[in-house]
Parts: sequence; C-alpha cells; structure tokens
Amino acid sequence: WHHNALSVVVVGASGDLAKKKIFPALFAIFYEGMMPKHFNIYGFARSNMSDDEFRDLIAASLTCRVDQKEDCGDKMEYFLDRCFYQPGQYGSEEDFKKLSDRMTETEQHQNKADRVFYLSIPPSIFTQVAGAASKGASSPSGWTRVIVEKPFGKDTESFNKLSADLYQHLSEEQMYRIDHYLGKELIENLTVLRFANLVFEPLWSRQFIRNVQVIFSENFGTEGRGGYFDSYGIIRDVLQNHLLQIVSLFAMETPTSLAAEDIRDEKVKVLRNMLPINMDDVVIGQYKGRNKHGVKKPGYLDDKTVPAGSRCPTFCAMAMFINNSRWDGVPFLLKAGKALKSRTAEIRVQFRHVPGNLYSAKLNQDLDRAANELVIKIQPDEGIYLKINNKLPGLGLTLDQTKLDLSYSSRYKTHLPDAYERLILDVINGDKRLFIRNDELEAAWKLFTPVLQEIENREMKPELYPYGSRGPVGAHYLAAKYGVRWGDALANDI
Ligand code: NAP
Repeated sequence: WHHNALSVVVVGASGDLAKKKIFPALFAIFYEGMMPKHFNIYGFARSNMSDDEFRDLIAASLTCRVDQKEDCGDKMEYFLDRCFYQPGQYGSEEDFKKLSDRMTETEQHQNKADRVFYLSIPPSIFTQVAGAASKGASSPSGWTRVIVEKPFGKDTESFNKLSADLYQHLSEEQMYRIDHYLGKELIENLTVLRFANLVFEPLWSRQFIRNVQVIFSENFGTEGRGGYFDSYGIIRDVLQNHLLQIVSLFAMETPTSLAAEDIRDEKVKVLRNMLPINMDDVVIGQYKGRNKHGVKKPGYLDDKTVPAGSRCPTFCAMAMFINNSRWDGVPFLLKAGKALKSRTAEIRVQFRHVPGNLYSAKLNQDLDRAANELVIKIQPDEGIYLKINNKLPGLGLTLDQTKLDLSYSSRYKTHLPDAYERLILDVINGDKRLFIRNDELEAAWKLFTPVLQEIENREMKPELYPYGSRGPVGAHYLAAKYGVRWGDALANDI
C-alpha cells in the first residue's frame, strides 16, 4: 500500500523520549509488519556518534515481547541495519542538508520518498529545527510531515508565538501535534463505546449523568527530574492537555464522520462551550515528605533539581462546566497529581440515582452511592466496568452492588500497543484524528491561561499533602461542594 520509500528522522535522538518510546515504537511498527517496505530511520542530534554507536544505543531499548516469535532477534538486526545517525547543530540548514544527502542515498531505489521528522527536543528549539529541517531536508519528491511534542507553549501568548513561528516553516497539514494520551487504547475506544452501542449514547447527557470525573495519578514524585517539571507544573503538564483532551472527546456531539476534521470540529466546539474556570473551583497541592513505618519519602522541595521554596503545584483538582444543552450544570471534575497513593488514569461517569426506586429500603447504602457508575480504566489494568445493583442470590431479598466487568487482560489475550506506536503509524498513514489541531490548543489555552495567571498573581500557596496519600483534603471539599464523591476514593469501589 505504501510504495514510496519512507525516512523517519528523530531529531533529539540522543534524548530520553527517543530512547524510551520512539525507537521501541518504530521497531514495534516494523515487527508488526506495518512499516512500508523501503524504510530507513535516522537519528539527528548534536552528540557525536557513529552509526554503530547509535545502533548500540537503540538496541539497548528494543525488546522482544513475550508473545513474539523466535524471529524477533533477526528482525531486530534487520531493523538496526536500517538505522543511521547524523550529528549536527539544530539551527543549521547545512547540517540538515548533509542529512538529506544521506537520506537520498538510501531512498534512491524508489521514485518517491516521504519523510517524517519527529521533533523530540526541548520546545526552546522547535522553531529553529522546523526552519532548518524544512529548508535543508524536506522531501524533494514526496510528502514531509513533522511530529511536534508538547509543551505547545506555556500560556496563550507563548502558544500564539510558537504557533506563528512554526507556520513560517510548516503548514497545518504537515504538522502532527502529539498528545500521547489520545493514542491510548481505551481513549480510542471511547468513541466506539459511545457510538457503536445503543445503550450508552442515550444516557450521555445531563438528564442521566450527574458528574464526570477524569482522574490521573502517579505514585511517584519528580525523583531528581524536577527541573523541567517545576517550570510547567501539573496544570500545564497534565490538565490543560491530556485531561482536557479526554473531556472534549467524551463530551462531543456525534461527528459527521470519523474523518479527522469532523472529529476535531466537534471537540473544539466542546472547548468553546466551556465556561471560564472559577477560581473557587480550583484546588492546588504540593507533596511533602513522609516518614511512615520507617520508610522515608522525600517532599517535592527536597528534590535537588527543584528551586528552593517553589510554589509549583504537583496536584490540581478542578471543576469545569460545558455550557450547552447536553451538559448544562454537569460538573466535570478533573484531578491530577504526583506522589499519590496509586498510579491510575481513569474516567468515571456517575449516573443519577433511580427516581422512585422500589428497592430503596433494600439498599445497604444511600441512593446516590447505589447509583450506577461507568468506569473506563485507561491505565494500568485497562478495562471498562459498570457498577450495577443486583439481587444477592438466595432466599430473601438483599441487594448487592457489583460490576459488569470487561477487563482487557482477561478478555483479550493480546498485547496492547504503546500509544506511540499507534500515533507514529497514524502519521505515516496521514491520519490526523488523534492529533491536536491549532484551534483546539487556542481554545484550551483560553480556558487555562486565566487560571495560571491568577495562581501567579495571587501567589497562591499549594496545599501540602504527604507523599503517597490521597492528595489534599481541599479536593474532597471541592467534590462535596457539588454533592459528589471522588469515585477512586470510595470504599465500595469494588
Ligand atoms: P531531553 O532528553 O531533555 O532532550 C532531547 C535531546 O535534545 C537531548 O538528547 C539533547 O541532544 C537535546 N537537547 C537537550 N537540551 C537542549 C538544549 N537546551 N538545547 C539544545 N538541545 C538540547 O528531552 P526528552 O525527555 O527526550 O523529551 C523530548 C521532547 O518530548 C520534549 O519536548 C518533551 O517536553 C517531550 N516529552 C517528553 C516526555 C518524556 O517522557 N521524556 C513525555 C512527553 C513529552 P544533544 O545534546 O545530543 O543535541
């Protein structure tokens, strides 16, 4: 299907993301037989390395999965033989020309060659790389696409500047802004669940849904890598992008088709319909050290890479509202934090209670707690479950809250692809459904910039919470204000 030669250039090939995610994903795509026949991988960075040293670097992070066959080792060799490294300066058109010349050599047996550039570099050099690479190394015969990593600015102003700068070198069509959450299996499945089943979509509104929770938690802190994090904070790192993207996919109207522009048109409408975030609905926190049962855990400020006295939030909970006919008045509660009790990412849909419930006397809890809840577990232990009330089998009549449970590990014996695999493959195929359009980011920053400014201007102090806890109590008051409880903290979360 893809007869052109394909060159994938990873700019910043010496970096952490490249090693951890990008090269393993490229290998997995190849292993699965999804890579075009004539492909080559190029690394570009300032570090000096020979092709062989580069191959050793990549080889160290490639793995053969348990379910893969014995030929994995051979395939790895074949893949590594197609990897090359070109050292160079990021702003140098000359150096990208040198890269281009080498690419042309490996591409020459095909008439046409397409090129993907993955910018896995700090945002401060996005623009110069886009300039030098597009002038020096764009494909002379096929298409050239560029994957841009977050962060896409720090607020509206810096986003607008970055966006205008990038447009000087690249068209919207060429740019693939990645949010790896959109590449996760359960997020892709969200629209399938809603639009390919009869039973959910009719309930998907204020009429039946009481609140929606989007929760992200990590059970570790910055662990000596706080430098980057401190200049962004959890709001920019998780809420403004990953969680907001999930909300817009969750809440959108039925798109005209599955085409990228149709889906993104609906997502951006949700963002534009959101009410400005009320500062009374925002709780920020920062983890502090904890010494429990002799096990010491450091606080955020104990991290040597974090500036002394930093007020940077490592936790944030907020309520957002979508002001349209479907969602008017329904709180969307977002919560994200580091150094919490568990590691999870999930969507929780809490339904209203059954009106005039015949069984209210038989429930062993209040009506709201006995209400249905749909949980979409994004990671780990991917799955979907629906909490329902069921009669406890046997004589007498006692109700039991239990769940209809679709756990991926027991239902599907297959390995779930990493988000980066899906997303890089989409770029090769030109599918933009799971990438973020410029106007989506514009709308997202419009919502979050005032909040970030207020936190700055008021010099808001984050509420401290112990490492490994459930987070600051303020988050519980926030949920209580809307008469609900965080689903992940419920004792009956079976
Ligand atoms: P990184 O390791 O800090 O940087 C990647 C490469 O860029 C480095 O190997 C270095 O290569 C070059 N570089 C670093 N600092 C530079 C500077 N100040 N000026 C010029 N070049 C510099 O970054 P990363 O963790 O791989 O992340 C890459 C991008 O992905 C970033 O935009 C990041 O925000 C985003 N991202 C990362 C992750 C993650 O898990 N790490 C997750 C999501 C998004 P040379 O010195 O050899 O040139």
